[in-house]
Amino acid sequence: MDEYAVHLAIAAIAGASVVAISAYFMHRKTLAQILEFARSMEKERDRVKEKDAKENSTLLEESAGNAGGMYHYKRRNHLSRRRIAIGRTSASLPDVTVARKMNGTEGEERGIGSDAEVVSTEMVFKDDDDDDDDDDYYKGMGVPPGLPKVQTFPKVSNSIKRIVGHVTKESSPKSPATCTSTFDSLEGSDDEDNVENNAEIHGSYLEADENAEDTECNTFIQTMPDHIDANGNPIPLGSANIIRSHSKSGDLHGVQPDPIAADILRKEPEHETFIRLKITPNEIPSMDEAEAYMVLQECLQLREDYLFMEEVAPWEKEVITDPSTPKANPNPFSYTSEKKTDHYFQMEDGVVQVYANKSSKDKLFNVVDATTFFTDLHRILRIIASGNIRSVCHRRLVLLEQKFNLHVMLNSDAEFLAQKSAPHRDFYNVRKVDTHVHHSACMNQKHLLRFIKSKLRKEPDEVVIFRDGTYLTLKEVFESLDLTGYDLNVDLLDVHADKSTFHRFDKFNLKYNPCGQSRLREIFLKQDNLIQGRFLGEVTKQVFSDLTASKYQMAEYRISIYGRKQSEWDQLASWIVNNDLYSENVVWLIQLPRLYNIYKGMGIVTSFQNILDNIFLPLFEVTVDPDSHPQLHVFLKKVVGFDLVDDESKPERRPTKHMPTPEQWTNVFNPAFSYYVYYCYANLYTLNKLRESKGLSTIKLRPHTGEAGDIDHLAASFLTSHAIAHGINLRKSPVLQYLYYLAQIGLAMSPLSNNSLFLDYQRNPFQTFFLRGLNVSLSTDDPLQIHLTKEPLVEEYSIAASVWKLSSCDLCEIARNSVYQSGFSHALKSHWIGKSYYKRGPDGNDIHKTNVPHIRLEFRDMLWRDEMQLVYLGNADIPDEIPT
Ligand SMILES: [Zn+2]
Repeated sequence: MDEYAVHLAIAAIAGASVVAISAYFMHRKTLAQILEFARSMEKERDRVKEKDAKENSTLLEESAGNAGGMYHYKRRNHLSRRRIAIGRTSASLPDVTVARKMNGTEGEERGIGSDAEVVSTEMVFKDDDDDDDDDDYYKGMGVPPGLPKVQTFPKVSNSIKRIVGHVTKESSPKSPATCTSTFDSLEGSDDEDNVENNAEIHGSYLEADENAEDTECNTFIQTMPDHIDANGNPIPLGSANIIRSHSKSGDLHGVQPDPIAADILRKEPEHETFIRLKITPNEIPSMDEAEAYMVLQECLQLREDYLFMEEVAPWEKEVITDPSTPKANPNPFSYTSEKKTDHYFQMEDGVVQVYANKSSKDKLFNVVDATTFFTDLHRILRIIASGNIRSVCHRRLVLLEQKFNLHVMLNSDAEFLAQKSAPHRDFYNVRKVDTHVHHSACMNQKHLLRFIKSKLRKEPDEVVIFRDGTYLTLKEVFESLDLTGYDLNVDLLDVHADKSTFHRFDKFNLKYNPCGQSRLREIFLKQDNLIQGRFLGEVTKQVFSDLTASKYQMAEYRISIYGRKQSEWDQLASWIVNNDLYSENVVWLIQLPRLYNIYKGMGIVTSFQNILDNIFLPLFEVTVDPDSHPQLHVFLKKVVGFDLVDDESKPERRPTKHMPTPEQWTNVFNPAFSYYVYYCYANLYTLNKLRESKGLSTIKLRPHTGEAGDIDHLAASFLTSHAIAHGINLRKSPVLQYLYYLAQIGLAMSPLSNNSLFLDYQRNPFQTFFLRGLNVSLSTDDPLQIHLTKEPLVEEYSIAASVWKLSSCDLCEIARNSVYQSGFSHALKSHWIGKSYYKRGPDGNDIHKTNVPHIRLEFRDMLWRDEMQLVYLGNADIPDEIPT
């Protein structure tokens, strides 16, 4: 093999020499003809000719007296270039960089320095690089018509020449820039040439060359991709920017064909590299900043202490080996009796405490008490109000945003190329989860209208409601409203949010009443009615089948438990089970409307404790003894979160450190948001610990927070919640926003819903949060009130994409976030976004499933790590996996 290579090399050298010499003579001939021609035309040219000849001879002298000195080559090139430039009429610059590199190689390899060679190689390179400009070029060179073009290498050797150039550069002392640029043209040629072919030639060349430095440079290139983007386009570095990109459309030359789709697909998307930002200065925090960072560390630590974390991560419990679609559960609601455990639990100051058995005195799970929580909350509130910390956080956030803008400016083409090269996958078939949608508004208005009409047509005599002492059929209900099925239209249905709902949560809630009639709401949108929620069950199934048909859209429906009576849980569970409401595309969250004051006013409850009892005691009962509520037990397997809902903008008094216990809370006022949050958090914490100890699924706290109202809502959720819905008020607090960024707390944002209720679309901070790298997803909130199309989630993405000019890469990143934030099972997440989805950065990405380029996630991860190291003053300990 080696021998063959050596032979090949010798043959190449010999061949090249012959060619070079012949080229030299041809060149001389050409020159002579020109001179002849000039002489006959004008005597004046004589002087010019003499000068030219002198130059030429100087060159020869220089070359003769030099054995490969770089300076001389350079100078010679310079002169040649000048000559070319004089004659050239084309706007394109000659590719002198490549030519010079080539010269360098020849000279150094052989230790020869004849002008003839220089000229010949230059010509070859011209030919090569300006492929389509051949004629122009020769015109520029002054080749008279009739003379053959100098063609020393066969056309095929396109890639060889490039590689030769690249190798040269290695050996040149002023290499880095040149090296990169040559590599660039090598890489760039992937778009035009057959990659395999290219690689083959490259390999044989290296073997033939046996130049150790070449290999070195090769390694250098591979390990230093920083200067090259995925297209193989260089970051302009010094002289390198003379070489123009071949693959970018909009190239000044505009002569290279765009890479065709099939070629793009041949690229391996994982191997895309990108332009890393080297602009992060050596950030040594000042004393003030360091102090601010220490305080931020304290906040993050607090959150870590509070948050319920699973002791064994789902991916450790269940290793997914089968890459195929997880099988749908054929009997999702089947119940097999499970043994009751000895656990004993009781409410103590509003929090359920669990004991190993009735006689045990030791609490099994310790959760932070209310006083500590409110003390910590006030600590956070003081911190986020501090001017110094606000400035620091604001600066960091703005810097993050600018860095992202710069990243997109430099890498958007490479990102898009990576997306193109991920076969099959595009925005439409990446999985996206509607992370925040209320079940009773999950169908759009047209769907509900059609459903009501069909029921009126098919089941007019169904007794559906008991009102004012009489039972009414569906037909009678509509007669009492003086409406026929024919009259009904979307306008009459009047469930859509409009101008009147802006800043009027009360009016927005009234839109749940079709045709303004609470009786229609009761019949069609409630579970606990005379027909046991059959209509709502049917319309829900239709929504499920739409989701299944769309295949790539999933939803997390929030369904209410009010806390008025303990039997609500069983009613809900039996409604779900009896109506067979199951879909692989759906999980449930329980939402608790914060309505203590209403129930108190109605006399349904006497203290806040009643509400907590009604919500949490059944959950502990079923966890300890599944037989006690079998339907609830199977339903809870599909419940992934707990939500708090209602109008946050209602005025409330900020809790003090010493609040009355829930039992003492008997006044008529609604407790503050953070009071609700604490008691839900604490009870869920012990519940989850108990469920985890029994190998059952857990329920994460994911409240509506920061849609409106005070900033302390966001502070309370920061301490206690896994993710939140909305969070638009983070725009008012740079410190909390930065903390939400550092902790990567999921925000399920709904700009269209905000536009109807609290914040005009163009003022929505979604885009800013996205740019800064907060963990945001898009969600619909209330398709019934807000959306117009059959695919409300895609409508949400579509409008955001149009208004904020989100790229396909942005959209896919948001979609990936949504799966990540969601409560779907580990097996489904693995299938939807990649089997290592729980790892940080590009390691956790699978572009074949998410269509998110590694470039994007690597960039996000890099920035986030930088910020963490900054905040932890260089001592951040970052695990490879994202905790859940
Ligand atoms: Zn909502």
